[in-house]
Amino acid sequence: MKIFKHVLLGLLFVSAGAFAQDAEKKEKQQGHTNQNKFKQLYDEFATPNMFRTGSGAPGPAYYQQQADYKMDIELDDDKARLYGYETITYTNNSPDELKYLWVQLDQNMRARDSKTPLINSSGIGPATTPSRLATTYLQERFDGGFNIQEVSDTNGKPLPHMINRTMMRVELPKAMKTGDKFSFNIKWWYNINDHVKDGGRSGYEYFEENDNRIYVMAQFYPRMAVYNDVEGWQNSQFWGRDEFALPFGNFDVNITVPADHILDGTGYLTNREEVFSKEMMKRYKKAQKSYDEPVLIVTQEEAEKAEKSKSKDKKTWKLSAQMVRDFGFATSRKFIWDMMAVKLDTKDVMAVSLYSKEGNPLWGDWSTKVVASTLKSYSRMTFDYPYHKAISAHAPMGMEYPMICYNFGRPNKDGTYSDRVKFGMMGVIIHEVGHNWFPMIVNSDERQWTWMDEGLNTFVQYVAEQDFGEWYPAALSPGQTKYPSRRGPAKNIVRYMGGNQDFIAPIMTKGLNTYQFGSNAYSKPATGLNILRETIMGRELFDYSFKEYANRWKFKHPTPEDFFRTMEDASAVDLDWFWRGWFYTTDYTDIGIKEVKKFAVTTNPTEEGKKLAERYNIDPSNLVYFVEEGNDGYDEALKAGEISDLPTVKEFVMDNFTPEQRKEMKSPKYFYQVTYEKPGGLVMPIIVEYTYADGTKKRETFPAQIWRLNDKEVSRAVASDKEIVSIQVDPDLETADVDTSNNAWPKEVKESEFDQFKNKIKN
Ligand SMILES: [Zn+2]
Repeated sequence: MKIFKHVLLGLLFVSAGAFAQDAEKKEKQQGHTNQNKFKQLYDEFATPNMFRTGSGAPGPAYYQQQADYKMDIELDDDKARLYGYETITYTNNSPDELKYLWVQLDQNMRARDSKTPLINSSGIGPATTPSRLATTYLQERFDGGFNIQEVSDTNGKPLPHMINRTMMRVELPKAMKTGDKFSFNIKWWYNINDHVKDGGRSGYEYFEENDNRIYVMAQFYPRMAVYNDVEGWQNSQFWGRDEFALPFGNFDVNITVPADHILDGTGYLTNREEVFSKEMMKRYKKAQKSYDEPVLIVTQEEAEKAEKSKSKDKKTWKLSAQMVRDFGFATSRKFIWDMMAVKLDTKDVMAVSLYSKEGNPLWGDWSTKVVASTLKSYSRMTFDYPYHKAISAHAPMGMEYPMICYNFGRPNKDGTYSDRVKFGMMGVIIHEVGHNWFPMIVNSDERQWTWMDEGLNTFVQYVAEQDFGEWYPAALSPGQTKYPSRRGPAKNIVRYMGGNQDFIAPIMTKGLNTYQFGSNAYSKPATGLNILRETIMGRELFDYSFKEYANRWKFKHPTPEDFFRTMEDASAVDLDWFWRGWFYTTDYTDIGIKEVKKFAVTTNPTEEGKKLAERYNIDPSNLVYFVEEGNDGYDEALKAGEISDLPTVKEFVMDNFTPEQRKEMKSPKYFYQVTYEKPGGLVMPIIVEYTYADGTKKRETFPAQIWRLNDKEVSRAVASDKEIVSIQVDPDLETADVDTSNNAWPKEVKESEFDQFKNKIKN
């Protein structure tokens, strides 16, 4: 019979291996054989190598490419067009030979023949606005793609190139070897989009009054793609959502705009004396020494005056930036401009705001102070802000570039604003300024891993928001003691994680391909890090490791493994189980109390106890017995007094311990067996609060590893000299438990939502 079974198994094995379609089945089987939540992440992680080490640090052979830009840009304000001529110098630091270069043409997402609109499903609802009807069905799509007029070498000789949608391949006259530099030119122009109507992270907002625009420009020039050890060329197309992967380099950019425009952007303004009036220079010098209040460089009165006419003259602003991954600028004659100095540990930097009168009084009161506060918080959590300024420019959306970001939040016409507008504006400024660290400096690949910049940044944003509320209590509203953070606290992610699994994807999914983008790529990773910091690792270990990650990878290109590995490497906390559950699955936390049994101790043998003694051939009078509440002898045993006075216990204690040791001994009277259940797939520590009959409380935390041998339920014996009257799991709601109805013993009878509703009606 046995032999027969083996033969059968052998047959099955052969036939399974013979068919390719069985691979999936096999994978499932393999998964089945090792579902352990504490299995190390060897299958999911790339193998460490000379470029990236097992510790999560850059390896001895780590390299990165460099792209330097010299650009002449001109804005045609009448036609809303941008013209550019750029020279890119590309340095190949890789060990590989390169035959061609890939350049990103993000504006082609707005080309007439763009495929972006075609990847979204669309339908017809009961009603729409006339303007939406017009843009969707009546008008030809806005043509905002690049017009590439020239791609040439330094002698002006055309270079063969091919455009595949948002990517352009430029053929090299001769393959680039390690250390080679190659310079080439691109001449281009495009129609700037109205980003209020057509959306986008770059573009203009049009103001009918006085026929003016505010331009916040980004992704406006052909940009080098990243080439590295993990991707080769990162040339995945820009569909509009996923952000960018860019190499570091130095920029020299001359931007010509109407002479009455105010402009600021990435880099040092190298011709300040040329573009500033004497009065502006005086104010600027004052701002460099003003640490508490911003100083206006251009006042509202001056901006309002400038709006009323249009200069026919031009002015060129010259900006120069070192070691940045991108370049952005904002320009308008509507701009009010203020600045304030910020003292960091190792240096002073400038906090800067650009906004129009529509942003006031909110922007004048708060934007620059929020920037300053953010620079301090992020510097503390990572490293001192390495650039010399951080600009917050007022726009209809939030988006980040090195040294400059665009932020929403506009008061009503009469200057009043709600809490939602105020904290929306403060939150977005903190967030976008924070992006200077992730991903502008700790330069992860945003197109591939949205969470590596959004999630990490949203986590530090939460810390920075709490700092801001503490440092600027005047920014809070009446009755508030803390900044009302939206993302970060564990309880705020419960609704998402406990929701319909059909609309949830693991964090390790490309942002473009996920539902509930904000919850997936911002809130969930940020909350996970917050749980690690507050509940699993503790602030000291977490902060040290997080800082180590930021410092290891500043001005470099980290991958997810580099983050996961560094957090473990610097803390001696094995977190594979946490990364697996929180980042690679859509499991949620649900831990509860299944049952609690109460016992008292006696020397009177119980029926069960006698059976045990018999089985092991022990004299029953040498044992102590636990009687469960509700059974014969329980009340008697509880009343019997000190447990150490029980004859058998006494004998053991007298014989084996010194009088000093005896004095130190505890004398528990109440015994409990608490069984915890885990309907949720995630493993988490069990945080328990016991409440005693005298009203006092005690907390105890069992590490997540308590689930390592049984993923469904575990029991713990508790001995206590005081009676426990109730037990609560996760009393501070710090594990994102999606169902708290099973968290208490005895079960709390909560009024259901329906009953609440019924009672409300009655009242
Ligand atoms: Zn962001």
